[in-house]
Amino acid sequence: MYTQEFFQAQRSQLVGRLALRSLENFESVLDYLLSWEVLTWEDYESVSLPGQPLSTLARRLLDIVWNKGGQSCELLFAAVQKAEGADEQTEPLRKWSQNESCSVQDLQKHRPTIVRKIYGHVESILNLLLERGFLTKYECDEIRLPIFTSSQRARRLLDFAKVKDNGVAQFLLQHILQLPVLPVPLPDVTACKKYTAKLKATVSAQSRFLSTYDGTENLCLENIYTENILEIRKNLSLGVPSQKGHDTLELAEIFNHKGCINEDADTVLLVGEAGSGKSTLLQQLHRLWATGQQFQDFLFVFPFSCRQLQSMDKPVSVQSLLFEQCCWPNEGQQEVFWYLLDHPDRVLLTFDGFDEFKFRFTERETHCSPTDPTSAQNLLFNLLRGNLMKNTKKVLTSRPHAICPSLRKYVRKELSLMGFSQDGIELFMRKHHSDAGVADRLVQLVKATSALHGLCHVPVFSWIVSRCHKELLLHGSGFLKTTTDMYLLVLRHFISHASPEDVAWGLGASTLRPRLPTILRLGRLALWGLGTCSYVFSAEQLRASGVDEEDLSLGFLVPSKSFPPESSAPVEFLHITLQCFFAAFYLLLGADVNPSAIRCVFGGHKKPHQPLPRLFPMACFQSPEPEEESVLTLLQRAETHNVRITAVFLAGLLSQEHWRLVTECRGTSTPLLQKKSRVRRCLARGLRRHFRSIPRAVPGEVKSMHAMPEFVWLIRSLYEMQDEHLARKAVSKLEVGHLKVTYCNIGPAECAALAFVLKNLQQPVALQLDYNSVGDIGVEQLLPCLSVCRALYLRDNNISDQGICRLVDQALQCDQFQKLALGNNHITAVGAKVLAEGLKDNDSLQFLGLWGNTVGDEGAQALACALHDHHSLKWLSLVGNNIGSVGTQALALMLEKNVSLEELCLEENHLQDEDMCTLVDGLKKNSSLEVLKLSNNRITHRGVSALLQVLESNATIRSIWLRGNTFTPEEIEQLSLMDSRLLF
Ligand code: ADP
Repeated sequence: MYTQEFFQAQRSQLVGRLALRSLENFESVLDYLLSWEVLTWEDYESVSLPGQPLSTLARRLLDIVWNKGGQSCELLFAAVQKAEGADEQTEPLRKWSQNESCSVQDLQKHRPTIVRKIYGHVESILNLLLERGFLTKYECDEIRLPIFTSSQRARRLLDFAKVKDNGVAQFLLQHILQLPVLPVPLPDVTACKKYTAKLKATVSAQSRFLSTYDGTENLCLENIYTENILEIRKNLSLGVPSQKGHDTLELAEIFNHKGCINEDADTVLLVGEAGSGKSTLLQQLHRLWATGQQFQDFLFVFPFSCRQLQSMDKPVSVQSLLFEQCCWPNEGQQEVFWYLLDHPDRVLLTFDGFDEFKFRFTERETHCSPTDPTSAQNLLFNLLRGNLMKNTKKVLTSRPHAICPSLRKYVRKELSLMGFSQDGIELFMRKHHSDAGVADRLVQLVKATSALHGLCHVPVFSWIVSRCHKELLLHGSGFLKTTTDMYLLVLRHFISHASPEDVAWGLGASTLRPRLPTILRLGRLALWGLGTCSYVFSAEQLRASGVDEEDLSLGFLVPSKSFPPESSAPVEFLHITLQCFFAAFYLLLGADVNPSAIRCVFGGHKKPHQPLPRLFPMACFQSPEPEEESVLTLLQRAETHNVRITAVFLAGLLSQEHWRLVTECRGTSTPLLQKKSRVRRCLARGLRRHFRSIPRAVPGEVKSMHAMPEFVWLIRSLYEMQDEHLARKAVSKLEVGHLKVTYCNIGPAECAALAFVLKNLQQPVALQLDYNSVGDIGVEQLLPCLSVCRALYLRDNNISDQGICRLVDQALQCDQFQKLALGNNHITAVGAKVLAEGLKDNDSLQFLGLWGNTVGDEGAQALACALHDHHSLKWLSLVGNNIGSVGTQALALMLEKNVSLEELCLEENHLQDEDMCTLVDGLKKNSSLEVLKLSNNRITHRGVSALLQVLESNATIRSIWLRGNTFTPEEIEQLSLMDSRLLF
């Protein structure tokens, strides 16, 4: 006999048995409990609420049963056993009573058997009931809803029969007697297991190689994968940025609670620029799952790319998406699909490259049926919204521009890919080169070339460096400054690989000239692809644009990873950035591209709503319109961000550095000169337009400008041209006192570009780069423009002591440098000592903000020492820096001597009452400090009493902030009355 105590002891095991198997299993338990009258109808309704997690319903059921006493508990065990199939016997059905109310009881009493008998016949029974007038069409449709499995439809039919008082129960019972018994509708566990195994084998094979693998290298992801920094994006709509700016997490943590902004949503969004490693990270996730190393909570992982979804031109259902586009179950398709629907939390769907999807996210159409087909985009949007397969986890990757606010509503957490850390770059190089000597030399080379080092944070650039290591080790890396330099290097590398006999690797034009026809054919295909949002090309399309075997053998086009590997599998460019690079080549050297197309690339590019139809390339190029119209149309229809990448390359190819190369390729320089002067004009005009849009300065304040992404792009293009004269011309007349470039994804490469252009400003500027990823290398890139900076804001930028070393030498030597804001970085005592050293020879700095670092007592001591006779610093923030008594003592001594400091911020440290006595000693001899901020420390009434002594004789102090310390309300009242300068 099971007692309630035993039942309670078994509770967690029971929850597992009820919740971890299928919904079908749970509902079957309910059938037994209803038929044995353990549950009343109300009980039944309370544990069969749709949309609730199965574990919640299971716990509720156990509570109900436990409350009913020992015998009910015993029956629950029996029901679980029966539902799990341990007791396979079904009761034989006998003749029923002729009375309707008895019939209703009979339906309930024999519910488990009846469900098993009718689940395969619901459709025909419904037709019959409709025909006989027992049910209305509306009722039939409600039972038929596609979200229900067949046995759920059977149960819904019985539920209707129970409430309808029109003889339907009696009719149903009579009809049922004639039906044959079908096998038990339990999910076929074996079929599911087999399917998981097949899916794992498929995903494992797909995720084995890196996407930049072209067959020539041994690039197994397993050996090469290098950790990419994953940063949690804050919910910026909440206003205040969080205390510590850069919260990161590991790949293994992407589904946990950390960084969750919306509990109800199921989609993890991974955002990063082109080449930041989104696809690779997703591939690593797939591989870890498929090889059983991680993410084993998921029984099924279905990888998709938006390129693949885009290519589906027929309507698809969830079922066909999963089975036909991903992996086909060899047996029990229906059971496996039901199992997936019943266990959404064990399923993961990943969608790569949302920015490449030509359809924009919309909530316009709702689609809830997993078996009914709809368009691929509608399917994707409804999956993301949770209308389909709610509770299934999804990972979506995208470049930032494609994410709209309406999509963000459905995002559980948003992560930004920040690329490799400095150590990551080194590790990457070592993983790619088993020869330690080569790896050492390559690492040294990268570290020694600052511009290159900056670029290598972006994984795709690290790949290029690693791929072209021979050329770099032979010729050095001094010539690598810009993104275009990098892509030209990789172009030469591929060419010399494809035909080593006739091309000696060199920097001259002769390398490219023999391959120009190939480059132009690839360029034309690339441009057509951008204009039609096609990133995957069929054999037919290749033929149409004249791309032949020889062009393919160069290695830039590889079989698309988004499609199963067959001989006819479509191809794609190794990377979207390479597609843009080839398009730029075509725009520059294509005989049919008129210089007037340049304006469309740099200025008047507006993307219309509808992309071009999916025509074959030649259909576009052979339109009856003049050729150039077609190029213009393609440019107008291409995704803005791809046009911008193309523009950057175009500017780079027109730089003086590569002038010989391109003119030799073209044979004549006239059209190139025209294109070059157009690019120069567009860039200078673009920047001027941007500056003109800045509102006039408020009287008494400096004119300030908030940069938009377009500004950063224009600056990058100017940098690619490497034209000092143009940069000077573009900004020399700029009148702006404060340039704000916050939250703009500024990394080291952008810093180099900003410095290149801004160093030409005629007036000193405050440069605000808060909330970016400048990092230590970015700081180094900024050095050339420090001489024009009045102030530099670098809050929240992943800067460590190394960055400080680079900064201090330069910044603190400039006469006009007044403000340095370094809050929320990784500066320790080491960095503080370097700063202190720099301050000794400086007499310009007025504001120094170190909030949210960890300089500690040692750092505070060093800074305090340096400030004894510093004459310009007015404001110092050491908020939240782990400072205790030792640091405070040093600061107090500084206050005795210093004559310029007006505000000292020491909030959120470890200051105690004894430290107040120390500060009092310092303040007694001080006559400049006006504001002392001590909020959120460990000060009590005793400490404040000490401070009051000094306030009696010090008239300079205007306020002492004390909120968040340890006072009773009475103490606060009493102390406030004693001196109004004490702020609580
Ligand atoms: P995205 O999808 O953001 O455009 P990819 O994932 O395609 O970027 O990365 C481009 C290339 O950079 C990859 O093909 C690979 O060579 C390299 N790469 C990216 N991330 C990593 C990583 N974590 N480890 C090793 N190589 C990487």
